[in-house]
Amino acid sequence: VKYESTGKGMKIEARHISYTYPGSTKPTLKDVSFTVEAGETLVVVGYNGSGKTTLSNVLLRIFDFDAPSPDTSAQLLINNIDIRRIAPADYHRHVTALFQVFSKLNTTVRENVGIGELRSQFRDHPIREAAARAGAGRLINSLPRGLDTNLDCVGLGMNAINPNPFMGGNSDSGRQGLSGGEWQRVAISRAFMRAQSADLLLLDEPTSHLDAHAQNNVFETIESICRDPVTGKRTKTVIIITHQLSIAKRADKIAMFENGTITEFGTHEELMSRADSHYASLYRATV
Ligand code: ADP
Repeated sequence: VKYESTGKGMKIEARHISYTYPGSTKPTLKDVSFTVEAGETLVVVGYNGSGKTTLSNVLLRIFDFDAPSPDTSAQLLINNIDIRRIAPADYHRHVTALFQVFSKLNTTVRENVGIGELRSQFRDHPIREAAARAGAGRLINSLPRGLDTNLDCVGLGMNAINPNPFMGGNSDSGRQGLSGGEWQRVAISRAFMRAQSADLLLLDEPTSHLDAHAQNNVFETIESICRDPVTGKRTKTVIIITHQLSIAKRADKIAMFENGTITEFGTHEELMSRADSHYASLYRATV
């Protein structure tokens, strides 16, 4: 079926989603169930290795939750439709994602911002390999309109259009010439480029390298692109994966991830008021 945008964001219902990496003996995602209403912001928190990125790749349809051995109870419903019935390219047109994996690619900033355009072709491949295979160089000819303005918004501006910004610098990091924070702005810029037509923004650790001021700017920008400027109503669903609990407080819902499954789910206030909440004790210890 065709994905029909409602202009209010995607409703996402995950039911009993599990995922085991090919060749692995134990599942990385175990019976994950949650609902995000259209227009809500969900923050997914949890330790490194708890399965957050794997979940995001399932939501992006990079990994198939029903392969290799389908669990018949597993379902991912998008606006009440089984995602398996929606053509991937059609779905991807309405999703904007920010990944971290591109940071190791040897591309210029401008090419990297453009690379999001090719994302829907990556579905069957590990992203990094697929991007390399796609030949990032040819992207330079097909960059989306508004790119330069967008780079300006995140503070990179014309510097980013330097044909070879990667000469010299931190050769060990694989992103020579740009700091982690600058790199992250590029990635955010790339995501925001595509955001206008999206019903879902999926952001994996969007602000981990940014200072508090820049983090605030990013969240204000997310907030502004996700609301109708006239009515003030939410127009997109946002899922943010982060280990920064200060971010979680702003969300409509929080999913606490541990060992591949959701151990706590609710609003910040709900989780804080539970006597046995692991989220609450981490929050009190870190924020
Ligand atoms: P998080 O994003 O919460 O840090 P991940 O989803 O990246 O967690 O990883 C969860 C678990 O899955 C980790 O234990 C990791 O070792 C394992 N994992 C991640 N990628 C792969 C892979 N390509 N093959 C096998 N196991 C993987």
